[in-house]
Amino acid sequence: MQSLLDDVIARNRQWTQKGKVADYIPALSTANSDALGICVTDVNGQEWAAGDARTFFSIQSIVKAVTLLCALEDAPIRSIAKVISFEVCSDSFDSIANLETSRSHKPLNPLINSGAIAIIPFISGKAYEEKFLRVVKLIRQMTRNQSIEVNDKVYKSETLTGNRNRALAYYMKSTGTLSGDVEEVLDIYFRLCSIEVTCHDIARIGAVLAGDGLMPGTGEAVANPNSCRIVKAMMSTCGMYNESGAFATSTGIPAKSGVGGGIMAAIPGKMGIGVVGPALNSKGNSVAGIRVLSDLSSKLKLSIY
Ligand code: GLU
Repeated sequence: MQSLLDDVIARNRQWTQKGKVADYIPALSTANSDALGICVTDVNGQEWAAGDARTFFSIQSIVKAVTLLCALEDAPIRSIAKVISFEVCSDSFDSIANLETSRSHKPLNPLINSGAIAIIPFISGKAYEEKFLRVVKLIRQMTRNQSIEVNDKVYKSETLTGNRNRALAYYMKSTGTLSGDVEEVLDIYFRLCSIEVTCHDIARIGAVLAGDGLMPGTGEAVANPNSCRIVKAMMSTCGMYNESGAFATSTGIPAKSGVGGGIMAAIPGKMGIGVVGPALNSKGNSVAGIRVLSDLSSKLKLSIY
């Protein structure tokens, strides 16, 4: 496995030159666009890493898989489905279009910005701070990393420039889709997106999802198998934004990307994979990260289809 990962990183490093780091959130523009790293954690807890696997990046939309998991653990799916659909989205991740044009005004799925914002009220916790800590604690548990924290610079930058997300949230408030205090919900969303991680952390989250909620190695249950199944189903169909169909055909694994350049994959019953490559394509996905996963998937026959 180690030589395979070294080889896959070396072969695909050239692709980092084909993308651009995200700059619509100014703090993200300082990311190293040449970085490329990978970590694999199997469901037994064995771990391998290659390339720039220790590079820190902000989790961004990858956190949406964990917020969805928390909401599914804390609230009946029937009540979530009343305000959020579980359908694919062909528009960009921050699109407002379908909120206005669809009759129900529901966000299309919980892995795009509107859906991820609308799901926050379903996470348990009376005070908003408790909801935030509920997600952070689960991330610390899944990653076995108690030093997981928000990157303050990214958080401030998100807060200052997150006007599209504000628009989505206030629109959803006006249609009754978003319950609660809009600014408090947005603040949780901005903070969660700004959590700093490495490939090791997201590979471990992927491994827990791959193992149906069991911690790799110890077998301790941290989430319900059915919640993990739904998260993986959403990752397979919607996890790579409006490139999810192409990714399914080239790679065939449940994955969630973020504009920080990370991609988290969960291969059912096998392993979690974390990749970082901050240079993105026009859809907001890591150019080299997609190549790495597609290469690895064909070498290890990981496609679930
Ligand atoms: N914080 C980012 C935003 O809301 C997350 C986007 C992403 O990673 O897709 O725009």
